[in-house]
Amino acid sequence: MDYKTISEKLEVKTYVANILIAVNPYYDIPKLYGPEAIKSYRGKSLGTLPPHVFAIADKAYRDMKVLKMSQSIIVSGESGAGKTENTKFVLRYLTTTYGSGQDIDERIVEANPLLEAFGNAKTVRNNNSSRFGKFVEIHFNDKNAVVGGFVSHYLLEKSRICMQSNDERNYHIFYRLCAGASEELKKTLHLDSPDSFRYLNRGCTRYFASKDSDKQIMQSRKSPEHLKLGALKDPLVDDQGDFNRMCVAMKKIGLDDTEKLDLFRVVSGVLHLGNIDFEETGSSSGGCILKNHSDQTLEYCADLLGLDKDDLRVSLTTRVMLTTAGGAKGTVIKVPLKVEQANNARDALAKAVYSRLFDHVVKRVNQCFPFQASSNFIGVLDIAGFEYFEHNSFEQFCINYCNEKLQQFFNERILKEEQELYQKEGLGVNEVHYVDNQDCIDLVESKTVGILDILDEENRLPQPSDQHFALAIHSKHKEHFRLTVPRKSKLAVHRNLRDDEGFIIRHFAGAVCYETTRFVEKNNDALHMSLESLVCESKDKFVRQLFENSSTIKDSKQKAGKLSFISVGNKFKTQLNLLLDKLRSTGSSFIRCVKPNLKMVSHQFEGALILSQLQCAGMVSVLDLMQGGFPSRAPFHELYNMYKAYMPEKLTRLNPRLFCKALFKALGLNDNDFKFGLTKVFFRPGKFAEFDQIMKSD
Ligand code: ATP
Ligand code: MG
Repeated sequence: MDYKTISEKLEVKTYVANILIAVNPYYDIPKLYGPEAIKSYRGKSLGTLPPHVFAIADKAYRDMKVLKMSQSIIVSGESGAGKTENTKFVLRYLTTTYGSGQDIDERIVEANPLLEAFGNAKTVRNNNSSRFGKFVEIHFNDKNAVVGGFVSHYLLEKSRICMQSNDERNYHIFYRLCAGASEELKKTLHLDSPDSFRYLNRGCTRYFASKDSDKQIMQSRKSPEHLKLGALKDPLVDDQGDFNRMCVAMKKIGLDDTEKLDLFRVVSGVLHLGNIDFEETGSSSGGCILKNHSDQTLEYCADLLGLDKDDLRVSLTTRVMLTTAGGAKGTVIKVPLKVEQANNARDALAKAVYSRLFDHVVKRVNQCFPFQASSNFIGVLDIAGFEYFEHNSFEQFCINYCNEKLQQFFNERILKEEQELYQKEGLGVNEVHYVDNQDCIDLVESKTVGILDILDEENRLPQPSDQHFALAIHSKHKEHFRLTVPRKSKLAVHRNLRDDEGFIIRHFAGAVCYETTRFVEKNNDALHMSLESLVCESKDKFVRQLFENSSTIKDSKQKAGKLSFISVGNKFKTQLNLLLDKLRSTGSSFIRCVKPNLKMVSHQFEGALILSQLQCAGMVSVLDLMQGGFPSRAPFHELYNMYKAYMPEKLTRLNPRLFCKALFKALGLNDNDFKFGLTKVFFRPGKFAEFDQIMKSD
């Protein structure tokens, strides 16, 4: 069959057990997600209607109501597979169907454009790629109506703020603001075209259609005028339109003009900060000064962030140290920075300001749907799936560690529990083997010897180095099954790396080689003291608030003149463990999103690509289990109570187990479609729905 025929025959979604597999169609199917579709799934058992995210959302809701237990829906898949879109469908479904009809329902949905503006960016894999993970909880009252929401966020990708790979962009908000701000606002914020900002013009996003396929994509999505635009006007992204839509969303969730301006001011401040250039002084002290043309930029930046221009200049070009020299203990001296160090200081400040701004956006969004009392919640997790690129760094390491934890949870829920149940019920179904990945998780997160703690230890050294860190890992885990040196890689690119330049981890989804360059830097969230105190004492109330409860300033090590250290890795570990505790305390459903092709176009299915995604998602082992398995089940007494009214009295005198046996016989059900356990009857995939249908029609 050719692709087209397959795609015509293939349903966009399908179930494996109660796990939904959703293939990204890459085109809008309004009917599939419209109000009619939403209505039709309300209250329907899984399997009675075609597979759909709405069916999973409704199941979660019904489980919450019946079991009086919070639920979570874990949406996973690689970049561009459709996690965020499906998450939004779930939120829309639940708020529309089970909302209270008040503002709050809409706000939960409308918070997304704002989060995406600050946390999403165009990458080569997805034009609207989420560069942070999130867990969105919808809270319900004792009558099971929506009362509010809460968003937790994980690991915003900070490197993107200062630098992007080829054909990628910075966060949407920067371009939207440049494209959409009124002339007056542009003047106030001293904004210009994105090309004029270092933080925006280095991703080489000059997009010219070279290949026919690219032209097709563009033509299908945007008008031909867009094709003529070069430079940072990406034809696939409509920054001006998106700016307007974002402003509407901001209004809907209740942000007033002052708050909006606060956000825009800081965003612009970051852009101007990025344009500050340094040059060597040429003096014997070896320091650097701002290049001539940077004076104006410095002024703009200081102005927008509420800083004193000269303090900012000094803080970017020097570092404060306490000296013990000459017996004058505790004298403060200013050490001049080299050009490269000043560049790093500038970028560190930009990252700190922007990531604090993002924290603020999430916090502010959470204030839009507050709730006093909640009985239960349904949480939706939208977090990046397993990643494996040619070059993998700290970001991939963290996200893959997260996926190991989620995979373990998935195994626990789906495989282990399923197997245990079959055994307990005496079903005689063959055991399914799966690899427990606890050893891999331990390798990352164990106390002292785990990679995260080894990295923290490195960060605390007077002169931490990426090389020393890599060697420490190898020496502490010489014989570890999960860990090896880069030269053992199957890929030539990695074999060229020295032992002190990286490590390979054998993940559940495959081996990944991590390059350790910049691990130390990326693991540290602290600014050096002069910069930290600068922003903490900003004249701008909003900027000051962003840095409130900043712990560094009080850190005694800072006072000793060292760079202080706030661990990114361990913060993530703590957040992740809290998240998993939460997931373990809820009932769970899974949506596995699949990306059909790399070109991001509709109606094209690349078999090998899809298969590898299913393997990464642990789906192959689930399929094994389910092929010989019985995903739907019902306790005898439930069936008895449900159907006794329809049966002759003679039958109802039987005990529930015999009653079910007699019932199934009377209906002439095929013996292969179900199995009797000790307390429940188990059905082959889809067979419970068939049975239910027969009963209802009779
Ligand atoms: P990332 O990890 O990069 O954030 P993701 O899995 O969240 O990726 P999405 O942003 O949800 O991916 O989807 C990528 C794009 O695919 C969307 O912008 C949209 O164009 C298209 N898409 C995804 N799901 C659907 C759908 N159900 N119907 C139509 N288009 C879709
Ligand atoms: Mg996403």
